[in-house]
Amino acid sequence: MIIKSATFICSNTKVSALPVANMPEYAFIGRSNVGKSSLINMLVNQHGLAKTSQRPGKTQLINHFLINEKWYIVDLPGYGYAKVSKSSRENWEKFIRNYITKRESLQCVFVLIDSRLEPQKIDLEFCCWMGEIQIPFALVFTKADKQGAVKTDKNVSAFKKALGGWFEEIPPCFVTSAEKSTGRDQVLSFIEEVNHD
Ligand code: GDP
Repeated sequence: MIIKSATFICSNTKVSALPVANMPEYAFIGRSNVGKSSLINMLVNQHGLAKTSQRPGKTQLINHFLINEKWYIVDLPGYGYAKVSKSSRENWEKFIRNYITKRESLQCVFVLIDSRLEPQKIDLEFCCWMGEIQIPFALVFTKADKQGAVKTDKNVSAFKKALGGWFEEIPPCFVTSAEKSTGRDQVLSFIEEVNHD
């Protein structure tokens, strides 16, 4: 897919204030600092569209970006930041749960996983919840340039194996690097396919 335009539309803290749900949406979520903003910028080929930062857990907003005037990338707040208070975490959970469970135009949630790490409980639990509520999701293993392919494969396999206990069918998986644009064509082709289904 060729990205002809990518435009920031709005940031929201309330599901009730989101844009009208009249176009397909693809949401991106993951632990703080997993490389979500960098991935979004890489996909749309626009350096500063989603903000990247070294300081995790900053944004607690749902950001909508309109792509090719036809579909949305939705940047969801990062989860699992140890330094946020319990009440702020509970708020986050309610907000995200509302968005993911109620948004009719949501086609797929891309769950980002740091490819350098062995399976993390928080990521597995999130995937498990996605399975429970039966929302289509795909896994995106980020920052693959940071280590050799063997290590990445090992972590990807371990994650799939861990999910295997819960899922009959493992969701689509992508290995990406925002630094090297690895996986860009694969993720965009996948979105294109879903859009045309
Ligand atoms: P977010 O908090 O999930 O949005 O993460 P960011 O996109 O802000 O990235 C967090 C940090 O990881 C930043 O310092 C990025 O430059 C770095 N980073 C993100 N993706 C990659 C990648 O694919 N390769 C490398 N080498 N660094 C990355």
